[in-house]
Amino acid sequence: MATQSRHARPFSIWTRMLLWKQIAVALVLGLALGVALNLTGNVAVAGTIKLVGDAFIAAIKMLVVPLVFVSLVCGMTSVAEIGRMGRIGVKTLAFYLGTTAFAVTIGLLLGILLEPGAGVALVADGAVDAKAAPPFGKLLVGIIPANPISAAADGNVLQIIFFAIIFGLAINLAGAVAQPIRGFFEALNAVIMKLAEIVIAFAPYGVFALMTWVAGTYGFEMLLPLGLIILAVYLGCLIHAVVVYGSIVAFMARLNPVRFFQGVIEPAIVSFTSTSSAGTLPVTMAAATRNLGVKNSVASFTLPLGATINMDGTALYQGVTAVFVAQAFGVTLSGADYATIVAAATLASIGTAGVPGGGLIMLSMVLASVGLPLEGVAIIAGIDRILDMARTTLNVVGDCACTVLVARSEGEVDLDAFNTPHVMAAPKLGTG
Ligand code: ASP
Repeated sequence: MATQSRHARPFSIWTRMLLWKQIAVALVLGLALGVALNLTGNVAVAGTIKLVGDAFIAAIKMLVVPLVFVSLVCGMTSVAEIGRMGRIGVKTLAFYLGTTAFAVTIGLLLGILLEPGAGVALVADGAVDAKAAPPFGKLLVGIIPANPISAAADGNVLQIIFFAIIFGLAINLAGAVAQPIRGFFEALNAVIMKLAEIVIAFAPYGVFALMTWVAGTYGFEMLLPLGLIILAVYLGCLIHAVVVYGSIVAFMARLNPVRFFQGVIEPAIVSFTSTSSAGTLPVTMAAATRNLGVKNSVASFTLPLGATINMDGTALYQGVTAVFVAQAFGVTLSGADYATIVAAATLASIGTAGVPGGGLIMLSMVLASVGLPLEGVAIIAGIDRILDMARTTLNVVGDCACTVLVARSEGEVDLDAFNTPHVMAAPKLGTG
C-alpha cells in the first residue's frame, strides 16, 4: 500500500519531507544544475534562475523589521525583572566578543600554516581607499534612534533593538493599563511567526535557485588559482564550528552538540546560499525557538543582536586574508602585527553589515591597520561570494550557539524540544 502510494504520488513524498531535507536536496540539485550549466556555457540561464532566489530573499527580508521589533517587545514583556535583561546582555556581548577574537586567531594560524599566498607574487600600486573604523562614541550614540520610524524604514537593527527594549520595558512599567497593548503584541507576534513560516516554506526553491546561480557563474578555472585561500577559509569555519561551538554546547551548556548542529541546518543552508545573516534572521529565529527549544525571551534579543554584531566567520576570513595578502605581496608580519590584526578584525567584524559582501568592504580596514596593500581587496573580490558562503554560515551558527548557551544559563531552554529531532516542517496552509 505504502509502495503503491509512493509510486502514485511522488509529489507527496516531497511535500511530506521535513523542511531541512527539502532544503538539503535543493542545495545538491542546484549545485548539479549549476555545474552542468557552467560546463555547457549556459551561464545566462543560471542568471535567470537566480531571480527565484532573489524573490525568496526579498520575502524573508520583508519580515526582518517587524519580526525583530515585535518579538523583542514580547520578549521584554515576558521578562519581569530589568536586572535579568542586563545579565543576558552582558553574557551575550562577552560570548560574541570572545568567540570572535578566537575566530581571527584560527584564521591567522591557518593562513600561516597553509600559506595560501605563497605562490602568488604581486606588487602594490596603491589604488584602493581604506575604510576607516567609526569612532566608538559615535557608534554608541548612533544606537539611539532619533526617529524610530526611519530606523525601521532603514532596517537599522541596532536602533530597532534599542527602541523595542525600552518600549517593552515601558509596557511593563505602565502596569495594568498597558495590558491590552501587551496582548496586542502577543497576537501580532503569532501572526508574524505564521508569516515567517509561510515564507520559510519557500526556502528550498530559493536555495535551489541561488545555488544554481553560484555554481553556474563560478567555473572551476576561476576558483583554482585561489584554491588554497578558499580551503583555508572553509577549513577554518569548519574547525571553529565543530571545536569551538561544539565544545561550548557540550561542556558549557551541557547539551548534545549533535542535536545542536541538526537543529541549525535550515538557517545554515539558507545563510550559505543567501550570504546574508541579517536576511536569514527569520529562519534563524524559527530554528532556535522550534528546533533548539530556546524561549523567545532570550532568542528575540540575542539573535537580532548577533546578526548585527557577531560575525565570527567574517573575522576568521579577515584573519586568513590578511596573512594571504602579506604573503602575496612579500610583507613579513611581526608579532605585534598579528595582535593588531586580531583587534582590528574583531572590531571590523562587529561593524560589518550582515549583507552579502559586507566583510569584503571592512577588509580594507583590517589590511590598513597593519599597512598591508589594499589591492588585496581587489584580488579577493573575484572569489568573495564563495568565501562569503562559508563565513556567513559560521556567523549564523555562532549566533545560535550563543543563544543556546545564554538561554541554558538562564534556564530558558525547553529540553524536550531541544532533544526532539527536527520539528520544522513545511507549514500546512490551513487555519488553526
Ligand atoms: N555576508 C556576511 C553576513 O551577512 C557578512 C560578510 O560579508 O562577512 O553575515
